[in-house]
Amino acid sequence: MSRQKIAAGNWKMHTTVTEGKEMISSLAKNDLPSDVTVIIAPPFTHLYPCLEVADSGIQLSAQNCSDKLSGAFTGEVSAAALADMGIKYVILGHSERREYFNESNELLKNKVDTVFGQGLTPIFCCGEPLEIRKSEQQVAYVRQQLMDSLWHLSSDQMAKIIIAYEPIWAIGTGETASPEQAQEMHQSIRSLIAEKFGEETSQIIPILYGGSVKGSNAKDIFGQRDVDGGLVGGASLKVDEFVTIIRSF
Ligand code: PEP
Repeated sequence: MSRQKIAAGNWKMHTTVTEGKEMISSLAKNDLPSDVTVIIAPPFTHLYPCLEVADSGIQLSAQNCSDKLSGAFTGEVSAAALADMGIKYVILGHSERREYFNESNELLKNKVDTVFGQGLTPIFCCGEPLEIRKSEQQVAYVRQQLMDSLWHLSSDQMAKIIIAYEPIWAIGTGETASPEQAQEMHQSIRSLIAEKFGEETSQIIPILYGGSVKGSNAKDIFGQRDVDGGLVGGASLKVDEFVTIIRSF
C-alpha cells in the first residue's frame, strides 16, 4: 500500500510575518512534486497572512492549540478558530511543548479530541529522551505516549492521524537517528497501532521522522520502508534546503 508522503516544516517561534510570507511565496515558486503533501507550521500570527500567499500546493498547520473549545483562557487559540480560517493541521505534543509547557499525555488526549472535533488533522508527536534511548526503553516509552493519548480513538479517527516520531536527543542537536534506527522505531510504532487498531489502519497512517533532517540526509531517511516523510525544524527555515528535502522521496 502506498501511503501519503509528507514534508512538514515546523518554524517554531522563528521569523516575522513579513519574512514568513516571503518564505511561503518563494517556496510556492518552486516546482514541487505533486505526490508530496507539503505542510508549513508557522507561528499563529503568520497563519492568515501565509494562507493568502500559499498556493494549493502548500498546506498550513498550527503548532499547537487549546484543549478547550472556547472561553476565558487568555492567550490560547482554539481549534475552531483555526478550522474557520481554513487551517487543516495542528501539531500536538511536540517535545518542546511537553517539556517547557508541561503538556502531559492526558492533556494531549483532550487536545487530540478537540482537534478531531473541529475536523482538523492532528500531527501527533512522540519520542524518547536520551536517557531512555541509552537504557533501550524507547519502544516502551513511546508506547505509553501513544496509549495514553491515542488509544481511546476509534479506528476511523486513528486512520486520519499523522504521527511524527521525534527522538528528543535528535531535535535541534544536529544529531540524527540513523536511517536504521528510524526504521526500527517506525516499524515498532506501526506494529503497536496494528495490535490495537488492526493491520489495515496501521498501513494507512503516515509516520514522519523528526530530528535534524537536512537536505543531505533526507533521502536515506525517507527511503526507509516505514518512514513516510519528515517533520523538519531548522532546515525548513531555509527555503532551498527545504525544497531539497521535499524532493528527497
Ligand atoms: C522539530 O522541531 O520538530 C525538529 C525536528 O527540529 P530539527 O529538525 O531542527 O531537529
